[in-house]
Order: sequence, then structure tokens, then C-alpha cells
Amino acid sequence: MFNDKILNCRDCGRDFEFSASEQEFYAEKGFTNEPGRCPECRAAKKAQTRNQGGGGYGRQEREMFPAVCATCGIETTVPFQPSGDKPVYCRECFQPRSRNNY
Ligand SMILES: [Zn+2]
Ligand SMILES: [Zn+2]
Repeated sequence: MFNDKILNCRDCGRDFEFSASEQEFYAEKGFTNEPGRCPECRAAKKAQTRNQGGGGYGRQEREMFPAVCATCGIETTVPFQPSGDKPVYCRECFQPRSRNNY
């Protein structure tokens, strides 16, 4: 059985609760390490790494090609060579949902 534990966040230094149900969850996943960060810092860290992707194209910077968005007409860059027979979209038009999913 698990008991609630108080751990210390290595990022902000605050104490946080590692609850019995979380410990159970960790054990189920096969994690042997206790979390080193409080839930706030973990969430912040996650959000940070997600934003670094630059729109979901992956971590590595790819060569970008200039293009004009077929929807709004602004100049943009796309990670592939526009062929001319397919419309290209700027980031905003290409992923209209990502702004609402926040
Ligand atoms: Zn923290
Ligand atoms: Zn656009």
C-alpha cells in the first residue's frame, strides 16, 4: 500500500504532495523514480518543451521556403519546397485549432 508523501521540488524548492494514488500510478507505469518537481513545475516544463517545437514540425530546425498563404495571402515560410500545384498555408491557417486548444 502507498501513503501520501511530501517531496521537495528541485525547481522551485517548494514542498508538494506525492499522493498515494499518484504513487500507485507511477508504480503501474513502472516508474521507479519519485517525481523531482511539483505539479506546477512539471506542467510549466511540459508547456515549454511543446512550444519549442515551433508549431509541431519537430525539434530540429528545418530549411524553410518562402510561400504565400492560400487562405489569408500573407507571406510565410513552409518547411518544404512549394510545388505550385498545391496550396500552402501560413502557420495560423494551417493549424487553426492549436490556438484554441491552449
Ligand atoms: Zn516546483
Ligand atoms: Zn494564412
